[in-house]
Amino acid sequence: MIHFSSPTQLKSSILSLDSRQIYLPQQTAFFAVRGVHHDGHQYIEPLYHLGIREFIVESDAWSGLLAEKAKKWTQADFWVVDNSINCLQEIARIHRKSFSIPVIGITGSNGKTTCKEWLATLLQTKFSIVKSPKSFNSQIGVPLSVWGLKAQHQIAIFEAGISRVGEMQRIEKIIQPTWGVFTHFGEAHGQNFESDHQKLQEKLQLFAHVEKLVYRRKNINQDVIKSEMQSINPQAELIAWSTEDLANCMYVYWKISPKETHIRIKKPAQSEAFLDVKTELTDEAYLENLCHCLIMAHVAGLSVEEIQARTKWIRPISMRLEIKEGLRNNQIIDDSYNNDLDGLQLALPLLKKYEHKKRVLIISDFIEAGIPAPELYPKIATLIQSQKIDQLIGVGDHLIKYQDAFKEIEVFYNTEDLIGSGILNQISDAVVLLKGARKFNFEQITQLLETKTHCTKLEVNLDALQNNLTYFKETIGPDTKLMVMVKAFAYGAGAVEIAQVLQQQGIDYLTVAYTDEGVQLRKNGIYCPIMVMNPQIGELDTLSNYALEPEVYSMTMLEAIDEYSHAHNKSIKIHLKLDTGMKRLGFSPDQCKELTKKIASMPQVWVASMLSHLVASESPKHQKFTEKQVDLFEKMTQKIIQTLGYTPLRHIANSAAIKNYPSARYEMVRLGISLYGISENKIEKKSLENVLTLKTYISQIKDIKKNETIGYGRKGKLKSNGRIATLALGYADGYARSLGMGKGMFEINGYLCPTVGAICMDMCMVDISHLPLVKEGDEAIAFGGKIQLTDLAHQAKTIPYELMTNISERVKRVYVKN
Ligand SMILES: *Cc1c(COP(=O)(O)O)cnc(C)c1O
Repeated sequence: MIHFSSPTQLKSSILSLDSRQIYLPQQTAFFAVRGVHHDGHQYIEPLYHLGIREFIVESDAWSGLLAEKAKKWTQADFWVVDNSINCLQEIARIHRKSFSIPVIGITGSNGKTTCKEWLATLLQTKFSIVKSPKSFNSQIGVPLSVWGLKAQHQIAIFEAGISRVGEMQRIEKIIQPTWGVFTHFGEAHGQNFESDHQKLQEKLQLFAHVEKLVYRRKNINQDVIKSEMQSINPQAELIAWSTEDLANCMYVYWKISPKETHIRIKKPAQSEAFLDVKTELTDEAYLENLCHCLIMAHVAGLSVEEIQARTKWIRPISMRLEIKEGLRNNQIIDDSYNNDLDGLQLALPLLKKYEHKKRVLIISDFIEAGIPAPELYPKIATLIQSQKIDQLIGVGDHLIKYQDAFKEIEVFYNTEDLIGSGILNQISDAVVLLKGARKFNFEQITQLLETKTHCTKLEVNLDALQNNLTYFKETIGPDTKLMVMVKAFAYGAGAVEIAQVLQQQGIDYLTVAYTDEGVQLRKNGIYCPIMVMNPQIGELDTLSNYALEPEVYSMTMLEAIDEYSHAHNKSIKIHLKLDTGMKRLGFSPDQCKELTKKIASMPQVWVASMLSHLVASESPKHQKFTEKQVDLFEKMTQKIIQTLGYTPLRHIANSAAIKNYPSARYEMVRLGISLYGISENKIEKKSLENVLTLKTYISQIKDIKKNETIGYGRKGKLKSNGRIATLALGYADGYARSLGMGKGMFEINGYLCPTVGAICMDMCMVDISHLPLVKEGDEAIAFGGKIQLTDLAHQAKTIPYELMTNISERVKRVYVKN
């Protein structure tokens, strides 16, 4: 059926906008959405064949072939709407309206996801909870989360994140929170707001109709949130807390010791604390989030004893999901964080990436208070069966009791029994996904399966990369294409892996420096267009066979390509490189005339694009020169276009120019270093996240006397008696030798430790005299944590590009994702 209206009701229980993440097609409604470089309508046909029967499509896209075909798909419902996302939001809003349970809305700059998860941990055993999966807090994530509200739930917890003015009002209408938590308010997410004040006002819109709001009052003199709330929602009961004893505030007193923190909370105008808890958390940011949760849990009706007991379950768990190398060629995905149905649903598709490996899933009993066990386990079984799992292992009483729901499962009462059985030692050439509730201590399994050796690794954070990519896509807008430079092993991050992520995100072009790099990408399944910057004439066959598009910078190359095209009767796509001032490669302005004449006589040579490279786009000092380059580019390309009779893409902007010279974006930009979060622009930097972290470990610790020397050439000395640590990272790994003698620092346990003496080939030494608790095997971070790559490069008297691309191949690349 084709309906030219919005659906008032959907049969499907799952809503999806992502064609790659469909688990149970028969129960899924697909919303076709058009993004910057992506169009969901393209997937309707394959998704129909996969079994999806409800589609929401946009009227602009509803024409031609698709509309014709859909007439024949009579079992499916198509709703043709103006805007799929608006429709999704409206459906979620109506759904939310039908519930009268307390809904907790969380927003703030940081800590939203942490607060949501911890609050759920506190409330979960008493109430049936629904919460946003992972960090689903956007215009799309929020409606999807709200759709999860079901009759059995007693409390809902949803987080909301915004990046521009006006968004929060829309989100508020969907979540309709009854209670609010305002987490840390800070500098993050600033780029689209005029001022901090505007950002605060905007965020507080989430609480326009709440009955109660929990927040921390940071400013002793003035309660800024209260003054804002007075105009936004004067009826709300404001529950402010502070670590100072202020009138009308809850007073939080925390005493931090190395191992634990003792927290006492007193209500205004009372003399005794009503809550007194201990926690393993000692970091102030964690404590702030914890206090929000403790107070909210109290508001939600947990008793003091219940809060005390459950606070023990709150740990500073990393929310990252790390993909680890295991013994016997196994790959381990430890995702023991979200042990509920949603968490499992999100984690299962991770296995798809490992086509040639055996797939093993280890689960524990589920913490899902909302669904009674006899219903829950068959649900889990159905979900698992929809994926191709070769071996399923379950741990816990419930799984034993309900094992018949599963087609094939090996079950154990507890983790110790599983380890004792020895079956873990038989797993090989597999990808192992672990999903266990915290009390089952699946860490023990991870430890058993993991390769024991410490290693020096470059961690590549794919979520940060995604964030940065989104930032640039939004910056350039839908009408500008995006080319990403993955030359030089993708700036050291790993060309194939990075290209895979980018391809999935639907970028327009990839660029490599040499033909070999392009071939390697093709051999690893990269099918998107690839430009090669520095091809050789002898490689024309290879280029053509692997559909690699050469950049052409000389007449000799141009003529060779023309000849090749005749000899093989093929038309060939090329990219013309114009030299506007770099004086490196490219046709100079005085060759323009000859060039256009030649190309006009070569009908088989197709100019896909014309490009030039800016020499100093990051530097305000050279603005005049940059403008001159762009001018010249404009003139040269205009001439060529006139003779060609068609308009190839034009591109000249590298990372820095995207921000600094918006008018030089033309039809396409070339993104390089800033994809990794590096930018000289202070405002832009706030929107970018760090992607690369270089980590090593301590091989040995030594006590050193004041008069002793350390390392080659007797160059290193301590000022007084102290301790040094030897790290497994040297100049052969790419840690510049110029960083010796205290020029470089490492972060160990959160503290900075200067290098001592010369950097060796495979090792280096650092001063840890100030850190008595550090031990052998501890991690040391060369850059990416507190130490920024840009600063380190400055210390080494070089640029970040060089440090990144120097990281040797023997340093393992590890890709992490939330
Ligand atoms: C490397 C390169 C870029 C990307 O430069 P970034 O400064 O890393 O953004 C763009 N264009 C060309 C021709 C390049 O060689």
